[in-house]
Amino acid sequence: MAILLSGCATDPVPIDRSVHAVSQDSRVRYVVLHYTALSAAESLRVLSTEDVSAHYLITDSSPPHVYQLVPETRRAWHAGESSWYGEISLNDSSVGIEIVNLGDSTGVWQPYTPEQIRMLIPLLRAIVRRNGIEPQNIVAHSDIAPQRKVDPGPLFPWHLLARQGLGRWYDAAAETAVLAQLRTEPLPDVGWFQQQLHRLGYDCPQDGQMTPATRRVIAAFQMHYRPSNYDGMPDAETAAIMMAMK
Ligand SMILES: [Zn+2]
Repeated sequence: MAILLSGCATDPVPIDRSVHAVSQDSRVRYVVLHYTALSAAESLRVLSTEDVSAHYLITDSSPPHVYQLVPETRRAWHAGESSWYGEISLNDSSVGIEIVNLGDSTGVWQPYTPEQIRMLIPLLRAIVRRNGIEPQNIVAHSDIAPQRKVDPGPLFPWHLLARQGLGRWYDAAAETAVLAQLRTEPLPDVGWFQQQLHRLGYDCPQDGQMTPATRRVIAAFQMHYRPSNYDGMPDAETAAIMMAMK
């Protein structure tokens, strides 16, 4: 009995682990989605041996192979300089999932395979449950680093994921109603779009100017929520989607 109460044999001093505090939660609050822009073999080599990494890697074989390269309790190096709702350096507080996909490196966007998405959905659902992750905190690398990154790109199926209860989406009925109204009015000014992007988590300039930096943030928003046109220019549909989003 004395041995049972004195903790684990490897403890440097006797430690009692029989009482657990109620005030605790997971250190993981975000999931960041990426494409690798490399072949599966190169992705595995780079993510396991170089100074970048991710918690999970989904290959493009049939069926895809899912590697866990870093335990969720440890930090992987996938996000880089990043910001979401004012939280910076998301490597510290996120799980990163890399999907083998070449992006637009061949001149056209490569689609994700249905099998990759079928693997991703239960993986993501388990990560979200395990860590209590909020829908708006399932993000694209481009959402948290819009000045540097475009992955996982405009072909990533955010809407399909949202229909599975994974990630934030907008109220489609509200968007339709707001859009009809907006078509009869002048477009809100750039400062309004910048305020909305800030409200929705994005690190966006607030200078009222349509600069390349602001355009990249608008493009990141469009790639996620309105991928049919992600030219980064303010338009009525983008405004309506923003208004229809809590
Ligand atoms: Zn990335």
